[in-house]
Amino acid sequence: MAMKQFKAESKRLLEMMINSIYTQKEIFLRELISNASDAIDKIYYKALTDDALVFNKEDYYIKVTADKASRTLTLVDTGIGMSQEDLENNLGIIAKSGSLAFKKENEAKDGHNIIGQFGVGFYSAFMVADEVTVISKALGSDEAFKWTSSGADGYTIEPCEKESVGTEITLKIKENNEDEQYDEYLEEYRLRSIIKKYSDFIRYPIKMDVTGSRPKEGSESNEFEEYREEQTVNSMVPIWRRNKNELKDEDYENFYFEKRYGFDKPLKHVHISADGAVVYNAILFIPENTPFDYYTKEYEKGLELYSNGVLIMDKCADLLPDYFSFVKGMVDSEDLSLNISRELLQHDRQLKLIAKNIKNKIKGQLQSLLKEEREKYEKFYKSFGRQLKFGVYNDYGMHKDDLQDLLLFYSSKEKKPVTLDEYVSRMPEDQKYIYYASGESVERIEKLPQTELVADKGYEILYLTDDIDEFAIKIVAKYKDKEFKSVSSGDLGIEADEADKQADAEASENKDLFEHMAGLLSGKVKSVKASKRLKSHPVCLSAEGELSIEMEKVLQAMPN
Ligand code: ADP
Ligand code: MG
Repeated sequence: MAMKQFKAESKRLLEMMINSIYTQKEIFLRELISNASDAIDKIYYKALTDDALVFNKEDYYIKVTADKASRTLTLVDTGIGMSQEDLENNLGIIAKSGSLAFKKENEAKDGHNIIGQFGVGFYSAFMVADEVTVISKALGSDEAFKWTSSGADGYTIEPCEKESVGTEITLKIKENNEDEQYDEYLEEYRLRSIIKKYSDFIRYPIKMDVTGSRPKEGSESNEFEEYREEQTVNSMVPIWRRNKNELKDEDYENFYFEKRYGFDKPLKHVHISADGAVVYNAILFIPENTPFDYYTKEYEKGLELYSNGVLIMDKCADLLPDYFSFVKGMVDSEDLSLNISRELLQHDRQLKLIAKNIKNKIKGQLQSLLKEEREKYEKFYKSFGRQLKFGVYNDYGMHKDDLQDLLLFYSSKEKKPVTLDEYVSRMPEDQKYIYYASGESVERIEKLPQTELVADKGYEILYLTDDIDEFAIKIVAKYKDKEFKSVSSGDLGIEADEADKQADAEASENKDLFEHMAGLLSGKVKSVKASKRLKSHPVCLSAEGELSIEMEKVLQAMPN
């Protein structure tokens, strides 16, 4: 039997593939299971147009078996199988996808559930195996063939025996070495957890023989018996593909916990089934509490990304803007390809569309929470409001239009957090500015002498108590054409009256006194001036120029 050569470029591609496309070895199982699922789908689609072919769903399955003694892992599927020619073409030519060709041929028949299209997934088996053997019998054929390869050197094909249609792939699992462990791919519990993680929602049963122990039937004492039986590992129907009307809040909460998105109940969930320009399903959660590492560098944002029910990425960061990094959940799209690498994904047009869509959905959810469930929104804002304010401030304020309506600040009048819109809608006609005062806490700000004049005028003041607040306000700059004004700024925009004129006169009369005071405080203050805004306090500190005293404090506290 002659050894056939891979094409030269295929050799290189194979090496590149094995070493770089996939970052985690465990995904080989995901790839092989996806192929098996595709192969069953192909029979299903054929049966739609071929009356002679009947598709009984019960007859179709994927089975995974590990044998430690021979160090083999075997995957059996009852799919469409491969002829000798298919083996040559699909497994002998790297980056040739039989599934893509099938999809193209069957476009009209709604063949889009099939996952494969890149023609490289199969070779991921060589990440964990020294040798791969594929025995296959194609639908409608009497002959079976065996394909064997140890990787880049090439492959052999020979006729062999196989009773039923379908494919059996056997991996000879590599030996452990100093750097890498492979034994785990022969452990049942490990294989089960990989299947659960990546392939839970494959539409056909993925079976495994499982050993366990259970209380012995009929026995009174706590006697246990060992058993070995075939079990289906995957749950097959993903919650996000189910009808929203059939699902209860509880179902979403269970999913949230199952996925370990968080430990407390989520504040809100959204189930999206989009079939516009881009087709996808998503379930998103807004958590109630700040994760312990949320405001640290360790926190990783991102959503789980699935391609047609198969997990591609645990935390796809590109799906969420930083200011919504608290959102947890998943996205499943048929329009994404399974084998796509992280680098390519960033430039994926579909992914960008989905991300934009998701951003708007989250914004809409938060807006409706604010409108309809104020208390919940305030809880949310306590946990994540700071992130929204960072969002306003970051990227040169380019997201402020998306976020400014979601901001809350404590109001001197309402004695609770209010939105900018609420503030502006209450402004008396003669009020020119949106006034704010910065300080460490509401109590401290209330005692600020600078607030008195504005408050006396009957104007509302926003209390900025978070160090990021004033930075965010400066970026927003204007809301509904009203500019922001700090109560400690020089010109408050309040009409000068008799009292002011008197203060001006006193200031020039006592010029010497002020200069003397400035001399005494030299190095501590820049100048001493008469103030028009003091009512019941004799003196106050005030900032010159753009930065308030509070902002200067923050800037000085920042590491250089
Ligand atoms: P892709 O799935 O992206 O097409 P793969 O490298 O995973 O690429 O597989 C290459 C091709 O080999 C598939 O397109 C399919 O035609 C064929 N193939 C792989 N595994 C099986 C299988 N279990 N049954 C039938 N055909 C298979
Ligand atoms: Mg594949």
